[in-house]
This record gives sequence, structure tokens and C-alpha cells, in this order.
Amino acid sequence: MSTFKAPKGTYDLLPPDSATYLAVREAISAPLRRAGYGYVETPGFEQVELFSRGVGESTDIVTKEMYTLTTRGGDQLALRPEGTASVLRAALEANLHKAGNLPVKLWYSGSYYRYERPQAGRYRHFSQVGAEAIGAEDPALDAELIILAVDAYTSLGLTNFRLLLNSLGDKECRPAYRAALQEFLRGLDLDEDTRRRIEINPLRVLDDKRESVQRQLVGAPMLRDHLCEACKEYHERVRELLTAAGVAFEDDEKLVRGLDYYTRTTFEFVHDGLGSQSAVGGGGRYDGLSEMIGGPALPSVGWALGVDRTVLALKAEGVELQLPAPTQVYAVPLGEEARRALFGVVTELRRAGVATDFAFGGKGLKNAMKSANRSGARFALVAGERDLAEGVVQLKDLESGEQRAVALDTVVGEVLSAQG
Ligand code: AMP
Repeated sequence: MSTFKAPKGTYDLLPPDSATYLAVREAISAPLRRAGYGYVETPGFEQVELFSRGVGESTDIVTKEMYTLTTRGGDQLALRPEGTASVLRAALEANLHKAGNLPVKLWYSGSYYRYERPQAGRYRHFSQVGAEAIGAEDPALDAELIILAVDAYTSLGLTNFRLLLNSLGDKECRPAYRAALQEFLRGLDLDEDTRRRIEINPLRVLDDKRESVQRQLVGAPMLRDHLCEACKEYHERVRELLTAAGVAFEDDEKLVRGLDYYTRTTFEFVHDGLGSQSAVGGGGRYDGLSEMIGGPALPSVGWALGVDRTVLALKAEGVELQLPAPTQVYAVPLGEEARRALFGVVTELRRAGVATDFAFGGKGLKNAMKSANRSGARFALVAGERDLAEGVVQLKDLESGEQRAVALDTVVGEVLSAQG
């Protein structure tokens, strides 16, 4: 063991488990790629202000959880705590929205950082796959994204997840609701922090998980009763499209999510096997964000799904992904001449697309066969001096134990056809 450990709240992805993470990223992005989303990659850090203006000064993410640093040049930077603000910043900077093809549809995959109190399912470094559709207001776009997320979870074999859905209104109806809610909240018995939140972002008080707060919220004005006609109509269209696509959802009028930029459609995916950190993904419409970070009005919608928690959800449901064996053929040379000959065969097999490994380090037959079995390979290729003298190698099926000699110059073809 080294003197060092992974920092608190982080963990390493190592084989064989890391293959599941890769497969989850792949499964989440596949439906997006089929729906016209292009891959975007942004830096791991941005100017602090992008997040304080974009994500919001009243959110825990900005006030408590950002990893910030000052560079030698005096720039204030933050490790990205989420993806949306960066992706929108990148799209605006490159003028993608002016290319005439709205919405700009982008997907991303990467590491995110939040200085949170670590616990099962909550880490300081975690991984998300996300999608953003920038520059269009269309209920079908909100529905598209939600359906693509559902398809991603379903393709992984998950069943025990639920979709919570809400509308947060827009700049027409939200201010009046906000004022009504503030008036109600100011009359409650709340701590200092929560009282401050009432003034900055009262909707977030609805999301407070504490029983003592929830008890007092009975009878609070609900946004549903204050939505303007346009928002009601929009939300109804989204709901209809989801229903038509066979996507089940639960209306959750208290769902506000921890970021300030959401408007209208808001949603979260929760998994019932995960305990307190049950949110596996979430997103919504953020029609005002572009203007908040200095851009033009660009109504947009997006989501981010947590890769770590999706992997935990697979475990909770006992789903084993059918992953291809990392090694299909394992070559075992006996003696120097066989090493040279088999190493050549290994290279040829790899070039032909067969995942092949080799008994490195001069292992004896017994040890090498153990490694072959441990590698999960279906076949072993074994060759000693006598085989070489005859111009053959032994192709051993590690499942059935059957073994036969094949001519050295036909090995690649033989392995390909034996694989079926
Ligand atoms: P959020 O931006 O907070 O809505 O996060 C979107 C998704 O990312 C959540 O639903 C989680 O699955 C995942 N996520 C957020 N924060 C963490 C964290 N600290 N550790 C692990 N996963 C997280």
C-alpha cells in the first residue's frame, strides 16, 4: 500500500467494476446519439461567477459546495459542480445558437465536484452524463429528453425507478406566486438560515427535507394553483406526450430541485432501492439561464443523470449487465521460440478484432493456465517446441476442455470461426 489514499468522499474506478461504469455511460448516451445530440466537452473548471450567477447564489451548491481556487494570475475559478452552465457558456461562446439550427442539442459525460458530506451515494467527485437542448420552447422537446432518459434506464434493465414531474411556472406567473409563498413562510417558526432562504429563493423551502419544516408547510400556497394559462397549457402538453409514449410519471408539486435556474418543466428520477440519496437523475427547463450569464434569450431544457447512483441502482436491483469478456483468447507459450511465434499470433488476432492477452513474464504452464482461466477467455492458445516443429498450436476451449491442433498460419481464421 502507498502512503496515500484517495481523498475523502472520492473513490477509484478499478477493473472489473469499472467496466460497468463505462457501460452505464454508454447506455445513457446511446439514446441521445440516436436523437441528434452531439458530443460536447468543456473544461473541468470555469470562472466562479459562471456558477454563482447561473446556478444561483441561494443554492447549497454555490454557497457551500464549490471547490474554488485563485490562480497565480488572480483568476477565481471553481471546479465544475454541474454541467448545464458550462455547456450553455460553451454554446454561446461558439455562437452555436446563431448557426440557424435550433435547438442546439448537446450531450456530455464527465466528472463533477461538490464539497458535500460524504455518505453512500453522495461523493465529492462523481460522474454524470447530461444532455441540453438549447434555444427552443416546445413541449415535445421536454418530453423527448424525459423519454430518452427513461429509455436509457430501461435499456440497462432498471425497473424500480420513478419519474417525478412538476412545473415551476415562468416569469409571468412565478413572481406573484413567489410573493404569496413568501408571505405564508414569513409567518412560520423557522431557523435563521431558512428565514434567509425565504427572501432569496422561497421555493426551495418547500423542498426542505426536515419533518419540523414539512409539518408547517401544510396549507402553503402551491404553484399549481398560480400557474398562468400559458404555463398550464405547456405542462399539459408535456404530460400528454409522456403518456402517449407510455412513460409513467407522478405529479410532485413540491419538486423544485436545488438549482435556481429552472422554469416550467422540472423533473427528477428517483430509485427506490437507494435509501436517502435516491435521486438518480434530474433536470428541467431553464428559459432564463442564458440571459443570467450574459447571453440572449434562449429557452432551453436539459438533464443530468448520475452515473455512480445508476450503478448503485443496478446493484440494488440485482441487475448484471451482459458485458463482453475483456479477453477472448489467452496465449500461453512454452519456451522462447514459442513466445516469439505466439506473440506474433496475438498481434494478428488483435488486429483482426479479437480481444487477446498473453502470458507475460515467463510463467510456467500451470500458472499461465490459471491466468488464462482468470482472464475469462473462452480459448487458450498453447504452443511448445514440439508444436512449433509441426507448425501447429493447440487451441483449447476453456469451457469444454476440448483441445485440438491448428496450423500456425490458419490460427486467426480458426479462432474467428470457433467464436461463431
Ligand atoms: P443535480 O445536478 O444535483 O440535479 O444532480 C443530478 C444527478 O447527479 C443526481 O440525480 C445524482 O444522481 C447525481 N449527483 C449529484 N450530486 C451527487 C453526489 N454528490 N454524488 C453522487 N452523485 C451525485
